[in-house]
Amino acid sequence: MEECLFCKIVKKEVPVEFVYEDSDVVVFRDINPKARVHLLIVPAPHIESFLAIDSKQLSSLTKMTKVVQRLIEGQKLEESYQLIFNGGRRQHVPHLHWHLLGD
Ligand code: 5GP
Ligand code: ZN
Repeated sequence: MEECLFCKIVKKEVPVEFVYEDSDVVVFRDINPKARVHLLIVPAPHIESFLAIDSKQLSSLTKMTKVVQRLIEGQKLEESYQLIFNGGRRQHVPHLHWHLLGD
């Protein structure tokens, strides 16, 4: 099966400028921004969706939370930000990601 787009981005097989990266999480700008700041926070392991998170993968969510907290402060979004997980028909890329929008 063709590997998913966000797995390819994590492995740098598709060139994307990272706002943040470590071995667990990468962050990059959404190609089609819906706000002045629109970042995608993507865990390195392939987790299909929010509903697919099991107890073994909860550490990914913990890591993502810490990264997002630092991004909100770093980008000075404390006064106005939104965090979104899309699922089902609303999710177009089947690799868990958090949208961080702010202005
Ligand atoms: P979803 O609808 O799955 O929650 O959101 C997927 C998001 O990924 C969309 O907002 C879309 O604009 C973004 N996206 C899709 N393909 C690419 C890409 O190749 N590069 C970047 N930076 N964002 C992408
Ligand atoms: Zn993937």
